[in-house]
Parts: sequence; C-alpha cells; structure tokens
Amino acid sequence: MLLLLAALGALVVGVLLLRLSQRRKRALRIPDGDVVYQDHESQRVSPPTLVSERLGLRGKPDCLIRNADGIIPVELKKSARPPARGGVYPNHLIQVLAYIVLVREHYGEQVPYGLVLYGNEEARKVHPTPENIAWLEGIIAEVKRARGSNTVDRSHQQISRCRGCGMRQSCDQSLV
Ligand code: SF4
Repeated sequence: MLLLLAALGALVVGVLLLRLSQRRKRALRIPDGDVVYQDHESQRVSPPTLVSERLGLRGKPDCLIRNADGIIPVELKKSARPPARGGVYPNHLIQVLAYIVLVREHYGEQVPYGLVLYGNEEARKVHPTPENIAWLEGIIAEVKRARGSNTVDRSHQQISRCRGCGMRQSCDQSLV
C-alpha cells in the first residue's frame, strides 16, 4: 500500500525528456506531434499542475504530445529497465493512468494511451481501458481510506515489489 502512496506522491515530481533525434524517436515508437507541455528542471517557467478535483489528484506529466489522435502523456524513467515480462511496472501504470485522467479532465481531449520511456531504450504503452481506469479509481479510494487511518498494512505477498520499492528501508512490513 505504501508503494501506491509513493507512486501517487510522485505525481508532483517532474523531470523531462524528449531531446531525442527524430530517428531515435521513430526507433522508440514515440509518436509524432507537437509537444504542448513539458516539465523539466531547466525550464525557467514551471508548467501548471494538472488537477482533478473529482478524484483528488494533482500532477505534472513529464511531457504531453498532441497529434491527430489526441494528447499522449510521456513519462521518462531514466534509470529503470523495462519489465522483462512486458508492460510496465505497477507503480508506473498507476502514475500514467493518473496522468491520462488528469489530461482528459484538464484539456477535455482524447487520450488514446500514455507512454513510459525506460532509460531512453524502450517505450511501453499504457491503455486507459475501462478495467485499468476502474483499477486506478479503486486504488485512489483505497489511498483515501488509508490516509484516514493510523497504520497501513501491506496489501500483497510479492517480494519483487518490496525489492523494487523506494520505501523499503523505512517500511516495517517489507518482505526483503
Ligand atoms: S517495502 Fe513492500 S510492503 Fe513496504 S511499502 Fe514497499 S512494497 Fe509496500
């Protein structure tokens, strides 16, 4: 559970990207389009925080690309390797789904999918399927409930999740 809290907390942290050549972008299958938003420490003016009052979410995506399909959030994970089994890690899934919801509500436009760019090596898609959105909303409800209680118990038995968790040093329920 703390992992999920950390993932949602990370929504307010921006880095940025996309100083890649066209050739590299094509190789990574990053879509063409206009970069309409980016959050990078070198920027003099910080982009606005996207807010969903409905879900109680706030966040700054790394980058938003607008093209004929809509707006595509791109999230950069500089150091992480993509999961060997395919897809993205659960905390990245939560993060990108949350950005998809925020972008939909802020811009009122289609968001066909989001991307996680792992170490400038591979871009993996996150689709806002009804199942994924329902999963995200369930997690948000769980986080809200947990914030109202004094202790939060581990909600899984997966050693790999604890192994990759940034909270494990201070977590008294870590499996590693
Ligand atoms: S170390 Fe494990 S139990 Fe603790 S917050 Fe991280 S994932 Fe959850």
